[in-house]
Amino acid sequence: MSAVVDGPDEQSICIGCGLCCDGTVVSHLAVRDESDLGAPLRGLGVEIIASADPLVFELPCPAVCDGVCTIHSLHRPSACAQFECTLSQGVLDGKVAHEEARMVISATLALRDAFRHGMVKGDVFQEHIDSVFR
Ligand code: SF4
Ligand code: SF4
Repeated sequence: MSAVVDGPDEQSICIGCGLCCDGTVVSHLAVRDESDLGAPLRGLGVEIIASADPLVFELPCPAVCDGVCTIHSLHRPSACAQFECTLSQGVLDGKVAHEEARMVISATLALRDAFRHGMVKGDVFQEHIDSVFR
C-alpha cells in the first residue's frame, strides 16, 4: 500500500484516496535523484528542488487523478511506494478495520472539498488531517 495506490490489491484503502499525493497530508516527497523521480513525472513538469536536503519534489503531484496514481504502472519515486500515513499503517497493523478506514477517507475527501470551497476553516481541516493521517 502507500502513497498512493500501490500494488495490485484492488482493496487497498489508498485507491481513490490520494490525500498524500494532492498535498493534503504531506507537502513534499523525498527522491534520491533524477532517476528516482523518473521520466513520467519529469514529463509532467515535476522538478526536484535541488536546494533541499534531502532532495524533494513538491506536491500536489500532477499524476494523481481522482485519488489514483496515473503513472503507477510506469515509474513512481520509491518514496511513493514506501509512504504510509497513520491511517494506512493502522490498517496494516490490524488496528483499524478496512471499512472504517474507507469511511474516514470518504469523510475526509468531502471535508477537503468543503475546505477548498471555503466552507470549512483551514484550522479545522488541518486538525482533522493531523489527528487521522499524520
Ligand atoms: S493518505 Fe494514507 S490512505 Fe490515503 S493514499 Fe496516502 S497512504 Fe493511502
Ligand atoms: S507519482 Fe503517483 S504515487 Fe507518487 S505522488 Fe505522484 S500520484 Fe502519488
